[in-house]
Amino acid sequence: MRPATRLIHHPGAFCKHTGAVSVPIYQVSTFQQDSVESNKGYDYSRTRNPTRDVLEDYIASLEGGTHGFAFSSGMAAISCCLMLLAGGGHVVATEGLYGGTYRSLSRVFKGFGVSSSFVDTRDPDAVGLAIGESTKAVFLESPANPLMGITDIAAVAELAHAKDVLVMVDNTFMSPWLQRPLELGADIVIHSATKFLGGHSDLIAGLVTTKDKSLATRVGYLQNAIGAVPSPFDCWLLIRGMKTLGVRMARGQANAVKIAEWLSTRPEVEEVLYPGLDTFPGREIHHRQAAGPGAILSFILREGVSAGTLLGSVDVWTLAVSLGAVESIITLPAKMTHLTYPPRELERVGLGARLVRLSVGIEDVDDLIADLQTALEKAAEGEESA
Ligand code: PLP
Repeated sequence: MRPATRLIHHPGAFCKHTGAVSVPIYQVSTFQQDSVESNKGYDYSRTRNPTRDVLEDYIASLEGGTHGFAFSSGMAAISCCLMLLAGGGHVVATEGLYGGTYRSLSRVFKGFGVSSSFVDTRDPDAVGLAIGESTKAVFLESPANPLMGITDIAAVAELAHAKDVLVMVDNTFMSPWLQRPLELGADIVIHSATKFLGGHSDLIAGLVTTKDKSLATRVGYLQNAIGAVPSPFDCWLLIRGMKTLGVRMARGQANAVKIAEWLSTRPEVEEVLYPGLDTFPGREIHHRQAAGPGAILSFILREGVSAGTLLGSVDVWTLAVSLGAVESIITLPAKMTHLTYPPRELERVGLGARLVRLSVGIEDVDDLIADLQTALEKAAEGEESA
């Protein structure tokens, strides 16, 4: 089955008992057993729930994996994967990655004896150098949030595996519609399903996929032990959102291409960071490993153009954290999603207060451009008169 068909005709899409074409919501915590030793495959919904089963099989089929796991948030999914490193060890992670992941690695897991190095994973040699005796995992974002740095996932997987190091990829920015890291050699794929997979800013969830049986057993054990699972209703809502992933991604991406090209011509903008632009470094690697540039882009304002005025002046764009929704969202990462970083680290990785991130939705692109144009003009004037 081709991807667009698989999105609709995924395993369990239609109820095998009734033919219902929408997955039933098994809003239940516990299941009546046949005897002390036997049940019908379910005993308690933290461990397993029929609605969640469909979601987990769904993400596994989309990512080309064999096992899927659902969590109550992207951070719960990431935390569960990092708990695979229990007992200590070292992680090599993409520098400038999502602020919540940085916080988790640099503070929470550090307290449990897991150390981290944040390196420029665009350079596989830098990853190779950072891998030491105690390194157990490489954690990648490609494109990275929000600087859009591209990591060659296959090259990193090859060198990590040669040293017996696991490769985890946060695939939130791309979704399996555009990029499937397991096919590139990654061991584990993670999503904040809150974003493109859910697609409507109406739920918080995380997903994990692997095709390695022993890793799946360990993730499944931790999922149940930690217990950060989504409710049956949220599983259903996520399944419902995922059915339209392809059409939403295609539309958001087409809008993003036009917006990136338009922004590149604007006097208020110093640089546009988007793999859909010919000038973007890493473009060639990105297009080798992904089916499109996606619906997220960032840009750096010229000195003297006020980011505060820009973000405060938009009308059609939604000023918010998060991304991957039907509505277009504008964010100032250094002061919003990446606030947890120490200022010196933000400066080191080039994540400044003039960097604006756009998550492009499915509205009419002319309205999005007109709104940005008005706000950019105000932002340029505001600073001059200040
Ligand atoms: N990974 C990325 C790339 C993100 O952007 C986010 C949230 O913004 C997360 C993980 C965390 O996901 P959640 O907010 O669902 O916990």
